[in-house]
Amino acid sequence: MNGATQIHANLVRVQTQIAQACQRSQREPGAVRLIVVTKGHPVETLRAAIQAGATDLGENYVEEGMAKIAALGGENAPTWHMIGHVQSRKAKAAVENFSWVHSLDSLKLAARMERFAEEYGCKVKALIECNVSGEETKFGFPVFAEDRWEDLLAPFEQLASLRCVEIVGLMTMAPFLPQAEAARPFFHRLVRLRDFLRSRIPSVEWRELSMGMSADFEVAIEEGATMVRIGQAILGPRPGGG
Ligand SMILES: *Cc1c(COP(=O)(O)O)cnc(C)c1O
Repeated sequence: MNGATQIHANLVRVQTQIAQACQRSQREPGAVRLIVVTKGHPVETLRAAIQAGATDLGENYVEEGMAKIAALGGENAPTWHMIGHVQSRKAKAAVENFSWVHSLDSLKLAARMERFAEEYGCKVKALIECNVSGEETKFGFPVFAEDRWEDLLAPFEQLASLRCVEIVGLMTMAPFLPQAEAARPFFHRLVRLRDFLRSRIPSVEWRELSMGMSADFEVAIEEGATMVRIGQAILGPRPGGG
């Protein structure tokens, strides 16, 4: 198989796995949005993914994303998702180029995004990134200690009150574990946090849960993911690793 054929086959396989995981958990097959994670891959690979039917693409770095967004504009332009840590000085470029930011991980970034989003027509949707495991290498608000969730209400209420950055849900990454099943309690923690926030901050719907990657997306969907972020299982290993 050539590269494009392989990507097409991979995409179909992953879409089937998503549909089956939805079925197992009594959810509509359309309940989960697939974001193809393209970091590290060249534009030709992204074209093949779009040709195969990918509608949503995710990037980790603002500048790498901007070059690809410019190259893939026009009729079949995908919807772009920022999924990596955004430095404050990149906040402007992030809100101008991405429809969704899954990695809103501080009040400082939120304040800057709000300012630029206001200038740019209030179009950006954001998910609050949560650290469900306590791993120090992970970004996100610390949500691993469930008896401290009350402490999250003040900052999350500030985020919920933004006028231009629309808070639509939560995002997380489970730890890397040898068995996907072992990630389940971490996904479940995010679901419980979502329910807690629904009752305590009802001004936001808390509709979206962005969780699940190549290694663990089926478990994430069974737990309630509405968005999965999948790279390697569709595009193959990233050139140069990483
Ligand atoms: C790279 C990345 C993914 C995709 O990982 P794969 O293992 O390639 O599926 C998902 N989410 C985030 C935040 C990432 O950085």
